[in-house]
Amino acid sequence: MSLAIDALLLERVDGVRLLGPLDLRLDPGERLGLVGESGSGKSLLVQALFGVLPPGVRLAGGKFTAFGVPMDQPGRDRDLIRGARMAWMPQDPRQALNPLLSLGQHLTLLPGVHRGESPSAALERLGPLLERLELPTGGPFLGRFPHQISGGQRQRICLAMALACDPELLVLDEPTTALDPLAEAAFLDLVLELQRQRGLGFLWITHDLALASRACERLLVLYGGEAMEAGPAARLLSAPRHPYTARLLTAARRQPSSESGFLPAPQDRPAGCPFRPRCPDPAGTCGAWGSWRGNPHDGLRCERPLEAAPPA
Ligand code: SF4
Repeated sequence: MSLAIDALLLERVDGVRLLGPLDLRLDPGERLGLVGESGSGKSLLVQALFGVLPPGVRLAGGKFTAFGVPMDQPGRDRDLIRGARMAWMPQDPRQALNPLLSLGQHLTLLPGVHRGESPSAALERLGPLLERLELPTGGPFLGRFPHQISGGQRQRICLAMALACDPELLVLDEPTTALDPLAEAAFLDLVLELQRQRGLGFLWITHDLALASRACERLLVLYGGEAMEAGPAARLLSAPRHPYTARLLTAARRQPSSESGFLPAPQDRPAGCPFRPRCPDPAGTCGAWGSWRGNPHDGLRCERPLEAAPPA
């Protein structure tokens, strides 16, 4: 098991719940998409996995392991996993890169820490990867600083950094947010090719259900810090059963919707189903959260699931 999360609960320090309790499993080489809009808790989950929760947020319950190693406690075992076997490609390359370090210094940082590699040895080993990412491998380019390259190059440098120690699990946090559709498609093709070549598993965080379904074989939909629906990507795309998943699909297809409104702030969320204020057809029982229906890999939490479409 690459990743095992059990009843993970994240709260603000004043006790307001932000995420969970959440269960999640990821097998080696598996491609899982975590889908939800801003505020659903996706990025907080990633920050928890890497032990970098922002100030004011605490781990209030549950446990999680990567490759059998507990990741919820600081220590050498966790440090050996982070950046090596489990790597993170952050959302904003501009913020992720240090303006005072050259590209070469960025690329050789983790190989130096985790493999004891010299910068020259690391850059030689990484040459084929940089070429595949269509990044120059020569000194003039690697001596540049982040502000001296294009946005697309910064993004591919971040991907190269994440892959620099040959991780088995890659966490991609909204990696295509700043890209136009053509660049997004090219990036997706590139990641899928690297995934196949390296037997890499990944956790792809996104608000775009259509993108997630192209990138991943399995999806987990989050809303208001709660798991709403999980299932094979093809099934969620063709026959979503949760009203929120259906809403995401409508948005991904840019179709009009009668549903409106925004995700309430964590302290203002209603009891029971957090989607209730926006749900087109809530049931009388939605004020109390019912139990998960189905199995963890294919199921949902909803009092009034949508009917599966009859076979054509
Ligand atoms: S039917 Fe109830 S549980 Fe299902 S999405 Fe609507 S409010 Fe939530």
